[in-house]
Amino acid sequence: MPTIPKWMGDIMESTFSNKFRSVTITHIECLSTELKKIRFKGDLSSVKFQAGQAVVFRIDGRNYRHYTPSFWDSEAGICDIVFHLHGNGPGQLFISKLKEGDHLRMGLPSGYNLYKRDSKYHFFFGDETTLGLFQSLKNLINTEDKHYIGVLELDAGSLHAPGQLGLMLDVVPKAETKALHAIRFLDELEEELWELWKTGVFYLMGNARSIQVFRNALKQRGISSKNIVTQPYWVEGKAGL
Ligand SMILES: Cc1cc2nc3c(=O)[nH]c(=O)nc-3n(C[C@H](O)[C@H](O)[C@H](O)COP(=O)(O)OP(=O)(O)OC[C@H]3O[C@@H](n4cnc5c(N)ncnc54)[C@H](O)[C@@H]3O)c2cc1C
Repeated sequence: MPTIPKWMGDIMESTFSNKFRSVTITHIECLSTELKKIRFKGDLSSVKFQAGQAVVFRIDGRNYRHYTPSFWDSEAGICDIVFHLHGNGPGQLFISKLKEGDHLRMGLPSGYNLYKRDSKYHFFFGDETTLGLFQSLKNLINTEDKHYIGVLELDAGSLHAPGQLGLMLDVVPKAETKALHAIRFLDELEEELWELWKTGVFYLMGNARSIQVFRNALKQRGISSKNIVTQPYWVEGKAGL
């Protein structure tokens, strides 16, 4: 529901008021000029959150945008989200203006649990929009005897962000040809490492075209579709997926 008529949004929020919660911004951390991590606090009691689920914000009368919590604690009433301020769109403009102490309504998490618990090896591929998801997956992986590696396509200004979030991932610059450097990364992995990770699960998130190209590269290298999890978060020229 990225865009709907204002009257419909108003009705939806009052009819399904139990699907929204009031939250207050308690902390904003600038990870780079394009990345903000924001902590929201509110009554999140009895809300169940699973890695990969997204919340929704009404960013103006007609538009909603999805974002993925990087951390969720229902009991403490805390939720963190990493936002990409990509410079083009009402969602990122709305987020860029938020200040500590602001109050807003947040649509509760929906979507699938993406974490494939049975797998020992987890491979992440994405961009700035997927940092939050990968942080929440990493937290789960670290509590179990599991392992992750991965590669992110990032703008030059955000190359340090994964490290700041405690994510041990490789980073490559975005290129005109989607996933170009990320596929090179794959090909340069040590053989022993690839032997392990090719038995694992691959999470391809973020830009729809990068996902498509990287997925094809994985399939050409013998990875079965059933071990590839994909979720596009945005695509060039299309508003609010
Ligand atoms: C399930 C789900 C979870 C998501 N989680 C997150 C998250 O945790 N953090 C996050 O930052 N985003 C996340 N996104 C992506 C975010 O919702 C989109 O980037 C959304 O398009 C932003 O809205 P906007 O109004 O800023 O831009 P829009 O109005 O939607 O788009 C305007 C233009 O900007 C382009 N654009 C959109 N996003 C980007 C981008 N990231 N980089 C470059 N160009 C872009 C569009 O292609 C379009 O041409 C998620 C999306 C989904 C579907």
